[in-house]
Amino acid sequence: MSASTSDLQLARYSFQRKLDEIAAVKGRATELVSLYVSPGRQVSDVMSYLRNEYAQSSNIKSRTTRKNVMWAIESLMGRVRQYKEPPPNGVAFFVGSKAVGADKSEPVTFIVEPPEPLNTYLYRCDSTFFLDPLLAMVHEPDVWGLIVMDRAEVTIGLLRGKRVEPLRNRQSLVPSKHGRGGQSAHRFERLIEHAAHEFFVKVAEMAGELFLPRKETLKGILLGGPGATKEYFYKEGYLHHELQQKVVQPLFDTGYTDEYGLRELVEKATLTLHGLEITEEKRLVQRLLAEIRKGDAGLAAYGHADVERALELGSVDTLLVSEGLRRKRVTFRCSSCQKEFTRTLADDEVEKVLEGPCPNCGQSSLSEVSSEDYIEGLFRRAAASSASIRLVSTESEEGEMLAKGFQGIAALLRYPLPARVAPAGAA
Ligand SMILES: [Zn+2]
Repeated sequence: MSASTSDLQLARYSFQRKLDEIAAVKGRATELVSLYVSPGRQVSDVMSYLRNEYAQSSNIKSRTTRKNVMWAIESLMGRVRQYKEPPPNGVAFFVGSKAVGADKSEPVTFIVEPPEPLNTYLYRCDSTFFLDPLLAMVHEPDVWGLIVMDRAEVTIGLLRGKRVEPLRNRQSLVPSKHGRGGQSAHRFERLIEHAAHEFFVKVAEMAGELFLPRKETLKGILLGGPGATKEYFYKEGYLHHELQQKVVQPLFDTGYTDEYGLRELVEKATLTLHGLEITEEKRLVQRLLAEIRKGDAGLAAYGHADVERALELGSVDTLLVSEGLRRKRVTFRCSSCQKEFTRTLADDEVEKVLEGPCPNCGQSSLSEVSSEDYIEGLFRRAAASSASIRLVSTESEEGEMLAKGFQGIAALLRYPLPARVAPAGAA
């Protein structure tokens, strides 16, 4: 796996994490404002829209809700005003009063620049933030190349998450086998083969133009169509060799070679794609298990403590992190004895520590000093020693084993982890 793939995984993970955080915010009433600004939208339009909403919100009956909504819109206007124009992919704002405890609320603001262009412009005020357009970008952000073809037509496109994007369509000039007029069968046959060859060269050229620039992020290429043309095109190696390697096996039969054919192709390939993803995860975890079985000489580490140690030593080759792992590294300070300490905690455990006693003096006067997402921290450290990172789903048996058996974290190593020095007197 290349470093850029790891960067993408980190970006994807951070984005997902941010959405989780925003999704967890609940309002006491309809007072959380979500604003999506698509790229190309005029800032002045957005401002006049907000001014209008502001004027209307003065009619809200409940005094608290009215106050909160008006504050949110005012705050939004302050944010939006800072932009000359929306960022390249657009931007989403989430502003409102978050319910905390019995009847308190505190102001929250999130600004998200999405990894893909927003095609939504919307304003919504509700008791939760509206995240659907962003969530759609998280689940399957993988990009696949799509080609459906026969001798008469080709359509090339992309599968982005669940969205099919047609990019190019071309009809061929290959004559039909049924209309040879007065020409001899032999001569006509040659004519057809020549025209077909020219067409395949053209198809490969278009695929190169569209796919080579994004070959780093392209997970693979799905090739389909009716009949045997696609197999011939693949076997004869028309595609650029770097693209040829990315063609997913098997090739897929479709009835059409137009835009509809692209959709057919995706439908047929869904199971295969899911299988590929799972298979790669299985393979990594099985390699891990094989290394663990070798004992001290094995190129593996698992569990928080050992993986941390391996990261410090820079010996991690591939870091395997369970997708289900949601933890933070939180540093607390006690205002009585001034001691600081750091814990790795699940989100809902932070509150408990804050309310509990100081582990040093026993007073309950702890406050949070800083907090970092645990996995983001790991990613950063892994990237620093150019280790690859692989988020492993819990869908396969192997993935589940990683989550449950190894505290959700393990690593394949470049060299064995030196034996831990046992503290004196330890068994
Ligand atoms: Zn203390």
